[in-house]
Amino acid sequence: MNLKIALQKQGKLADGSTRLLHKCGIEFSNGYGKLRTEAEDFPLEIFFLRDDDIPDYVADGVADVGIIGQNVLAENPKKVKTVEKLGFGRCRLSIAVPKGLGYTGLQDLTGKKIATSYPNILSDFFTANAVSAEIHEVNGSVEIAPSVGLSDAVCDLVSSGSTLFSNGLREAETVMTSEAVLIARPDLPVDASAILDQLLFRIRSVKAAEQNKYILLNAPADKVEDISRILPGMRSPTVVPLAEPDWVSLQSVISEHEFWNVVDELKRAGAEGILVVSIDHMIV
Ligand code: ATP
Ligand code: ZN
Repeated sequence: MNLKIALQKQGKLADGSTRLLHKCGIEFSNGYGKLRTEAEDFPLEIFFLRDDDIPDYVADGVADVGIIGQNVLAENPKKVKTVEKLGFGRCRLSIAVPKGLGYTGLQDLTGKKIATSYPNILSDFFTANAVSAEIHEVNGSVEIAPSVGLSDAVCDLVSSGSTLFSNGLREAETVMTSEAVLIARPDLPVDASAILDQLLFRIRSVKAAEQNKYILLNAPADKVEDISRILPGMRSPTVVPLAEPDWVSLQSVISEHEFWNVVDELKRAGAEGILVVSIDHMIV
């Protein structure tokens, strides 16, 4: 018995999906042109597909689970369950206007023609914001639509914004934000569901490890209380004596984001020799 997972074959989610499974200790080869493979050391069968086809494969039960951008599901809802956000493939669906255009707000789009591959999401957004604009559906190369006279503005996926910029566009409004998610068919058989639980356990430990760092620092013993108070989000640090009298090493887990917020405070409180180390896995 294998759990069948559908991954994007090529494109912006392909590397992130493969990397996540590898980090979960699941090895497989996805040689060029291969549509299907089996993992070597985990009961997983992998299908490589176009991202747009993944929700249907999962909804129809051809695959049990899949990795897909939230934007695809929002545009085209299917009978699938979103099981876990995966923290990669982050992007926004944004409305962008020609750089030279003075844009002051959504009402400026009234009567304008907007090119997009996401007509459903955009139409809901316009309805919610009482904007009456014309939606022009295009598949691919949305960003060139204004320069060839096909539309006045676009609504497209953006991550850094460099593609928009090089096409003379600037981001004006965010319609939705998106990241990769793990989806599952609603009627997952019991044995597939047990494998999914094992996979989820590994994914969560990889995610937790990516968001946290192991921190080690030295401090005078009489500063332990002050420093412990500054280190957020932990039960209690490990305190180990140093060979030097009255000095200790404090060790703890901290989110990377929090570390940068408190590093100056830690130094002021007497911390020295601060080391921040990556964590491979964190069992949560
Ligand atoms: P396919 O050939 O599989 O149909 P595609 O061209 O439709 O691929 P990609 O451009 O590879 O799709 O994007 C896949 C997903 O990656 C998007 O649906 C989105 O969720 C995510 N993504 C992340 N960043 C970006 C970005 N800058 N532009 C487009 N998509 C992005
Ligand atoms: Zn696609």
